[in-house]
Amino acid sequence: MPQYPDISFWMSSIQTNASDSQPQLTSRPQLTQSQDVDVAIIGAGYSGLWIAYYLKQQAPNLNIAILEANTVGFGASGRNGGWLMGSVEGEDRLLSGLETSQKQQAHHHIYGIVNEAKGVFDREGIDCDFSHGGWLSAAARYPEQLTMARKTMANLQAEGHSAEAFQWLEGDELKARLNIHNPYGGIFSPHAARIHPAKLVTGLARAVERLGVNIYENTPVTNLSVSEQNSNTLTTDFGTVKADIVLPCVEGFSYKLEAHRRYILPIQSLIVATEPLSDTQWQDIGLQNNEVFSDTCRLITYGQRSADNRLIFGSRGTYQFGGKPKSSFSDSVTVFSDIGKLMREFFPALADTPITHCWGGTLGMPRSKSPHALFDPHSGVGSIGGYAGEGVGASNLMARTLVDLILNRESELTAMPWAYHTTMKKALRRWEPEPFRWLAYKSILATLIREEAILSNPTSPSWKRKFIHGAAGAANSIL
Ligand SMILES: Cc1cc2nc3c(=O)[nH]c(=O)nc-3n(C[C@H](O)[C@H](O)[C@H](O)COP(=O)(O)OP(=O)(O)OC[C@H]3O[C@@H](n4cnc5c(N)ncnc54)[C@H](O)[C@@H]3O)c2cc1C
Repeated sequence: MPQYPDISFWMSSIQTNASDSQPQLTSRPQLTQSQDVDVAIIGAGYSGLWIAYYLKQQAPNLNIAILEANTVGFGASGRNGGWLMGSVEGEDRLLSGLETSQKQQAHHHIYGIVNEAKGVFDREGIDCDFSHGGWLSAAARYPEQLTMARKTMANLQAEGHSAEAFQWLEGDELKARLNIHNPYGGIFSPHAARIHPAKLVTGLARAVERLGVNIYENTPVTNLSVSEQNSNTLTTDFGTVKADIVLPCVEGFSYKLEAHRRYILPIQSLIVATEPLSDTQWQDIGLQNNEVFSDTCRLITYGQRSADNRLIFGSRGTYQFGGKPKSSFSDSVTVFSDIGKLMREFFPALADTPITHCWGGTLGMPRSKSPHALFDPHSGVGSIGGYAGEGVGASNLMARTLVDLILNRESELTAMPWAYHTTMKKALRRWEPEPFRWLAYKSILATLIREEAILSNPTSPSWKRKFIHGAAGAANSIL
């Protein structure tokens, strides 16, 4: 029987394997009394922690506190698929207005995320099972995937990405790296690494604490009162925190912060882990360089080979009416079973391999589908986020951008189209009110699931395949 851990396989693995040489789960105090600080950060996920790290590095005298509603890594940062990507979601639209030289500069910063993060891991002794094996996107289940992958490749080339950054793989080249079903073809990019999400988030937390940042756990912020004179107040049940600079970094949990609610839509994504596979099984599957991999389909399907040789496999999203986040997934047995079936469709040799862990998490989808770093110097309020499920690496880049904005430095990063020197209200688009967004999300998801069912059935007639493929493409472009 699979386990449904409270947070994730990742968090439970560091809990149960804790020893002196391995990362341990540290429990941290709640806020016990009101205080004044220079910078108050809400949320101890990658966003809040990367900001604290770079801010403290560059302005060591700042007094920084992080207020976390639960524990470090309780959000998506302790639950994700462990792809550290040198890319940002929605990059094509985000960079589309830039001149060629500025676009190249943007690509340079985006590709550079993986090496920048690795530099910090080395300096700070963060052992998070980092393995820089790159990323494979596979068209390998039905023929329409090949057309989609070729189109993606053509778009990447048209956007000015180099042949080194994204390489086309013929079917046999794909099969040599990832031995899945019908290897039609695929794309390889070296700009991605495999990591252990919980080791990363807990390692970062310890690094910022060493720099003098205070992290308060089990301290939900219940209200944020903003003043134009950079004197902002955070309310908690245990006291208030007054700060010149306030940085809410709650991504998929914006539901409880009134001012953020309509900007980031919380979407749930689910994921499973097998028992550790044998060397023989891995020789059959491939991923010998620990590449992370995805399926060329609209229902975002992704995986990694973990350092302890499990296959970690995630897919599908859900949305709860009103944008409520969700943290417990033991009731999602049918979805986990569908993910298991899909995993075995990919890798028939795993037909009898037990799935040992099932969990999920809440990520944040911005209306523009691309991330942001914004800071309003008048109120001292700023934020990063909107990663649309690709925040492991992007949070590092957005944090560095935000720190330049806060310290009022003009840099290449603050000139990028993800940087805003203003309020969220002025910079970002809002989602439509309910029930429109719930209805839109549910009907689009139903179309994408129908597309999958028809296209992955080899006996579906060609008129039906064409119709659903076109309808799903149109539906997907609405969101
Ligand atoms: C299943 C899944 C798989 C994913 N896979 C990948 C992947 O492979 N690669 C990738 O790049 N991205 C992936 N993502 C997305 C990635 O994990 C997120 O983009 C990233 O972790 C966001 O970090 P964050 O710090 O902004 O938010 P979070 O990690 O969600 O942190 C927000 C924190 O804020 C706290 N909080 C919320 N409200 C309050 C409050 N009122 N007061 C105090 N604290 C509060 C929460 O408890 C939480 O700890 C995945 C996400 C999920 C759910």
